[in-house]
Amino acid sequence: KELSSAETRAMFLRFFESKGHSIEPSQSLIPKDDPSLLWINSGVATLKKYFDGSVTPKNRRITNAQKAIRTNDIENVGHTARHQTLFEMLGNFSIGDYFKAEVIPWAWELLTSPDWYAIDPEKLYVTVYPDDQETKDIWLNVVGLPADHIYEEVDNFWDIGEGPSGPDTEIFYDRGARFDAADPKENHPGGENERYLEIWNIVFSQFNHLPGLTNNQDYPELPHKNIDTGMGLERLVSVFQHTDTNFETDLFWPIIQQVETISGKHYGENAERDVSFKVIADHIRAVTFAIGDGALPSNEGRGYIIRRLLRRAVVHGRKLGIQKEFLQQLVPTVGKIMASYYPEVLANADYIASVVQSEETRFNKTLSDGLHLLADVMNDAKQNQGEIAGDIAFKLYDTYGFPYELTVESAAEAGLTVDQAGFDAAMKAQQERARAARGNKVSMGVQNALLTDLKIPSTYVGWSQLVVEDTTLS
Ligand code: ATP
Ligand code: MG
Ligand code: MG
Ligand code: MG
Repeated sequence: KELSSAETRAMFLRFFESKGHSIEPSQSLIPKDDPSLLWINSGVATLKKYFDGSVTPKNRRITNAQKAIRTNDIENVGHTARHQTLFEMLGNFSIGDYFKAEVIPWAWELLTSPDWYAIDPEKLYVTVYPDDQETKDIWLNVVGLPADHIYEEVDNFWDIGEGPSGPDTEIFYDRGARFDAADPKENHPGGENERYLEIWNIVFSQFNHLPGLTNNQDYPELPHKNIDTGMGLERLVSVFQHTDTNFETDLFWPIIQQVETISGKHYGENAERDVSFKVIADHIRAVTFAIGDGALPSNEGRGYIIRRLLRRAVVHGRKLGIQKEFLQQLVPTVGKIMASYYPEVLANADYIASVVQSEETRFNKTLSDGLHLLADVMNDAKQNQGEIAGDIAFKLYDTYGFPYELTVESAAEAGLTVDQAGFDAAMKAQQERARAARGNKVSMGVQNALLTDLKIPSTYVGWSQLVVEDTTLS
């Protein structure tokens, strides 16, 4: 079937409504009363109150399409076909109601029935937890899935410490040998490959991880068993729209086309440029939704994530040759794409765009100061040893927000190298200073909290780590 993203989402909700579920709206990305979480990162995250028993739902069967942000996937974005920072999870949930015998055949019905998604069953594979023979038996004997479409996977056990835990079963779509990994050992569902696309995870929370227990064989059964599932909308849509990655679906394509117009470059001609197109499309979506939900760029917590995403998008814009501010123009495009389920984004597009623009203006100023410095430094290096000193590369990174790779690339274009060991040493020294500052802050109380916060490195590492602009404070 050729389904639009809007139809795909609506069909999921309609299917589970027909199985007695109540539809919960997509909640804010900003968790309510949950300091353990920076962002809502799954469908179940907004339903915790039901799962932990603090609130009893009117209906024990719930379905939703929930926007989610996973910053831990940031390095994957643009490089795998299937990861974004912002994505939507389609889910169905049983709060002590139905269990395996219902949920597995329903998942199969939704995916393969001609009345619903009508996916070719030949293309579907599953993984199960080796000890969970009950689940394997349902796949084999109730659904009728051939044994060679079922893989046992030791990682299929969901356990986040004390509390509910249990095995899960994951469903994969075979995109064909064209997407095989180089290493044949990886070419199976659950392996490191782009062929078997994980679309749906079904978690059976049936055990209670009690304090002190270390072996999941010892966990007692829960009196009320729950079901928690999550299917990535963008991945499912890539199946229906026959695209190589999530980014060529109707959820991203208009953004990429607009970036083509702005940059004058074309998608699909150069792998490295395609990464930039994808990163920009992903990040502007995440930032638009996050600001729409009330977060703002800043140097801490959620705000810092937004700042980093915006800056990464600007840097990738530069890689496509875009020198002018451009991100705010993409905001209404995101709003239009998502309008059928998230009309509030388009309604707030002017406000969101103005926040994006002022952040971009700030960052562009810093970047162009840095570019001037870089030009001077490169001139010097050309006259001298042909190498850019590590502490200068670090200054570009730390003060001007230049990703290290950008400095290396610019240097390479001019036939120069960068002293990586020197850069690493400067980075280490900076982290030690930050650690000291943090210790100081704890012992000396709140005085100068602003100053120290500005220099505390984020917990994320890698070239995406675009730190602080205001070094006059350091
Ligand atoms: P993967 O192994 O591909 O990283 P996952 O096992 O981490 O996925 P789950 O935590 O099981 O993902 O989340 C449930 C579903 O949500 C996945 O099966 C997938 O369809 C979707 N999903 C998870 N992470 C992302 C992401 N970063 N971008 C898009 N979809 C995602
Ligand atoms: Mg993952
Ligand atoms: Mg997985
Ligand atoms: Mg999974």
